[in-house]
Amino acid sequence: MKYDYLIVGAGFAGAVAAERLASRGNKILLVEKRSHIGGNAYDEYNEHGVLIHKYGPHIFHTNSKKVFDYLSRFTEWRFYEHRVLAKLNGKLYPIPINRTTINKLYGKNFTTDKEIEEFYESVREKRHPILNSEDIIVNQIGIDLFEKFFKFYTKKQWNLEPKELSPAVTGRIPVRTNSDDRYFTDKFQFMPKDGYTKMFERMLNHKNIEIIFNTDYKNILNDIEFGKMIYTGPVDYFFDYKFGRLPYRSLKFEWETIEQEKYQEAAVVNYVEPEPKYTRITEYKYLTGQKKNLTTISKEYSRQTGDPFYPIPTKENKKLYLQYKREAEKLKNVYFCGRLAEYKYYNMDVVVGKMLKIFGS
Ligand code: FAD
Ligand code: UDP
Repeated sequence: MKYDYLIVGAGFAGAVAAERLASRGNKILLVEKRSHIGGNAYDEYNEHGVLIHKYGPHIFHTNSKKVFDYLSRFTEWRFYEHRVLAKLNGKLYPIPINRTTINKLYGKNFTTDKEIEEFYESVREKRHPILNSEDIIVNQIGIDLFEKFFKFYTKKQWNLEPKELSPAVTGRIPVRTNSDDRYFTDKFQFMPKDGYTKMFERMLNHKNIEIIFNTDYKNILNDIEFGKMIYTGPVDYFFDYKFGRLPYRSLKFEWETIEQEKYQEAAVVNYVEPEPKYTRITEYKYLTGQKKNLTTISKEYSRQTGDPFYPIPTKENKKLYLQYKREAEKLKNVYFCGRLAEYKYYNMDVVVGKMLKIFGS
């Protein structure tokens, strides 16, 4: 059997490519190292019947109507706006930092955007140029708020000082002058109604798509014939680490199911102090809307070893990645796509958008 495409990895990048190409008559072999589809967005019911995200909380949000319409072919949606609280000195504060955060933290009674703007202006420390993840925050809101909400969380998450990380990392979190406490402000904020895995099942349920699980693509390369490859695994692994290993940050989850309806005040609580060692606790029922008299949470610990989850955006890593990228560009028959293959801190919608651009919508 000759396949038109060998696709490595059944996450968003691999699944969108497979669906798009199969719909135009291409024969696809999709190879996945894990035992399931969905990549890091995979969700499943645990032994207590609670729908959880096995690899950490995934909240869908996008400004792209194209991406939203495309995924809507495979799922209905549940309206969901994500909210996060930060735990500091035993109290809970809304994150991103907004008017409510400032009023609660400093005992103020600001009521307008203008007052908050003036407050930020009075505490900010001008930094120019913005070179790293400390500069970008301190430049907007000063050292005290940076130290309270960003410094230690970032250290725990990346095992690096914010100064060592690209401004794009903490720059993901906006600073607000109003009291909007939503984590995202995108136009489309929804969760797949039956979960991500069901959505992936519908995408990949096509006669032209064959999937093999529990298989590293390198173990079958010599046994199959194919035209082109779409690779969505780690780029350094593809090239047998010839320039050295690209660092990825991994995670460990501690799961608990508690016999009560609700555990905490928001879907996610960020622990922004050095202790405890975990970065955040997620309570999944908020995300999925599931009704149940018990609830499951995960405590998230960041670590160096294990499955690659996050590319680490530092200057050195970018340099190393560019060496791999140059090699990748020489291979005209292989597309390198997605978070691991492009070594980019992409959200789900960005990955989908990129795949639609390459493989048609
Ligand atoms: P992946 O989902 O990582 O898929 C790659 C697949 O390739 C994996 O299934 C892997 O097993 C497989 N693979 C790797 N190597 C091989 C090999 N050698 N052979 C066979 N298969 C292989 N994005 C959002 O938009 N919103 C969020 O709230 C959000 N939260 C996140 C939370 C966490 C903890 C993490 C880690 C990420 C989060 N993301 C979120 C990002 C999101 O997970 C990614 O954008 C998305 O998963 C990228 O899809 P991908 O296909 O590029 O990679
Ligand atoms: N961050 C922080 N404190 C917070 C939330 C985020 O310091 O309360 C920083 C931290 O460095 C984190 C980055 O901002 O890695 C991006 O946060 P986001 O919630 O987007 O992380 P993700 O969900 O991708 O893990």
